[in-house]
Amino acid sequence: MLSDFEFVRYQRQIALPEIGEQGQRNLLNGHVLVIGCGGLGNAAALYLAASGIGKIVLVDDDCVDSSNLQRQVAFKESDLGTAKVDALKLQLSELNGRSQVRTINKRMAESQLKLEVMLADVVLDCTDNFTTRQQVNQACFEANTPLISGSAIGWKGQFVVFDYQNKQGCYHCLFPFDHHPQTTRCSDSGIIGPVVGTIGNLQALAAIQRVSSGEFQVATQQLKLFDGKSMNWQNLMVTQDIECPVCNSSVTNNLEEEAL
Ligand SMILES: [Zn+2]
Repeated sequence: MLSDFEFVRYQRQIALPEIGEQGQRNLLNGHVLVIGCGGLGNAAALYLAASGIGKIVLVDDDCVDSSNLQRQVAFKESDLGTAKVDALKLQLSELNGRSQVRTINKRMAESQLKLEVMLADVVLDCTDNFTTRQQVNQACFEANTPLISGSAIGWKGQFVVFDYQNKQGCYHCLFPFDHHPQTTRCSDSGIIGPVVGTIGNLQALAAIQRVSSGEFQVATQQLKLFDGKSMNWQNLMVTQDIECPVCNSSVTNNLEEEAL
């Protein structure tokens, strides 16, 4: 049962037939892992806490730097030098004291990553390097935990959801390398703030869809490319790489099952 306070607080989303009281209860019991607390993680985490997500785990090993403030809008000048996870946790706690926020102020070893991914209902990949992205994809695939991936560089943003129930491709099928051929981190090149916020907000939106109802309304296994200049979107279906080292074994299994 929702309390009177919760009913009033969340009434504008409870009023949506796709959410309703049951969806709100699911959000309050929801558990979301946010890996990376830069611009994407900032935007996503604020909306997740505001929606009432019960447990939010924040992961980042970095501190707030003055060059972050242009796009990492949950941070304030008074946060400079503070661990990003601590500064963001404070913001989320002030926004919604009923959301439990746990912080991990380091890059997780593989075993811890696997455990955290297993515990979560959905994972938001808000990181800025391909090595971590591949590790997160592997862990999500193995644990069957949906992955909501976002990235932004320059004027461009990318967004893709992998619901591994379908087993039709994974992040590695889309980007089969650990390092970007050119620049990798936004610290190495320019980036416009609202593009990062746009993608982070979409990550929160997809997470709210999945946690409230158990399914995504947004198309999964579909790469959405955003151009912040023209403000146009382009959608591309992700095709499964039959040589993918992450999801390739399930391809073999499927083929065997079909043959039987
Ligand atoms: Zn794959």
